[in-house]
Amino acid sequence: MLIVVKVGTSSITYPNGNVNLGRMELLTRELADVHSAGKEIILTSSGAVGAGVGRLGCQPPSSLPDKQAMAAVGQGILMHMYEKFFSEYSKTVAQVLLTRDCFSDPERYLHSRDTLFSLLRFGVIPIINENDTVAVDELKFGDNDTLSAMVACCAEADLLIILSDIDGLYDSDPRGNASARLIPEVSEITAEMVENSKSKGGALSSGGMFTKLAAARMTMAAGIPMVIASSAEANVVRRASDGELVGTRFIPSARRHGMRRRWLAAGSAPAGFATVDAGAADALLHRGKSLLPSGVTRIDGKFGVGDVIGVRDLKGTEIARGISNYDSADAAKIAGKRSDGIEAVLGRRDYDELIHRNNMALL
Ligand code: GLU
Repeated sequence: MLIVVKVGTSSITYPNGNVNLGRMELLTRELADVHSAGKEIILTSSGAVGAGVGRLGCQPPSSLPDKQAMAAVGQGILMHMYEKFFSEYSKTVAQVLLTRDCFSDPERYLHSRDTLFSLLRFGVIPIINENDTVAVDELKFGDNDTLSAMVACCAEADLLIILSDIDGLYDSDPRGNASARLIPEVSEITAEMVENSKSKGGALSSGGMFTKLAAARMTMAAGIPMVIASSAEANVVRRASDGELVGTRFIPSARRHGMRRRWLAAGSAPAGFATVDAGAADALLHRGKSLLPSGVTRIDGKFGVGDVIGVRDLKGTEIARGISNYDSADAAKIAGKRSDGIEAVLGRRDYDELIHRNNMALL
């Protein structure tokens, strides 16, 4: 089970921006424990701007360059603290800083996704934040609720948990209304919920309930459940991942397994084709294997790295579709070669596979 956990600025820093060590310790201990129990974890952490403000002892910045400067100071502090706490529990963490084009540019998407899968395979806990320092408007997520939902979809997570200073979604704003009631389960986001959610988070945070609902809409569409819960709740990650009702759970209409695979199968016309021999066709269709260059007999069409291509058997029937790790010129050069011969032909060997299993849909 892969769980993406998002933690907000107000959950790990004090209002003055200093890191809240007690909270961070509880969080890391719990995540380490859930990880030890066999679950995979990706942590999306805000707090870079906040920690920068805390360290420099200044006011929350209003200009973009100041914010970016604070993030540059604070991101290192955050990672230092995470590294310190997680290593207490013998966990290895990795810093992953993303911008929006990591999701919109096919080549960058592919690489970001593969890097995340590699980290998880090594048993590492990736800690993701927006690359605030370089993000200009077109490249910005702007808030980590959106970022965490995109990460959950990209990594095909089983659950997204958004930890916040609020313990879930209420039927009206609980800050101004004592009779506001927590909604434990949501299977449809209504216009009224969106309307009620339009106030912002704390001074150092970017989100609020509005961006959380947008995140829920994204994950629900991808078939991934999402939970909003209080970061102060004991054992919240373990309980939410065990299916216990804690905070508010957003339930997708159907758990759409391999959404991305279906998208690959149904999506736009392939930019080219790889024809494969009988052995490779069998490996793809019956043995769950990736497509290696050795099984490829010819390449048709012109495509780039990250484009979707079709895979044909020797009779010309399209049997699979997937994202190519090599462009058409390179693919033609390595067709029929063993993976350990790729470097001799191309002078580099970025991938052993032409199409990795994770990025392939059988037709
Ligand atoms: N990336 C920002 C930070 O680390 C936070 C964005 C957010 O609060 O959602 O400070």
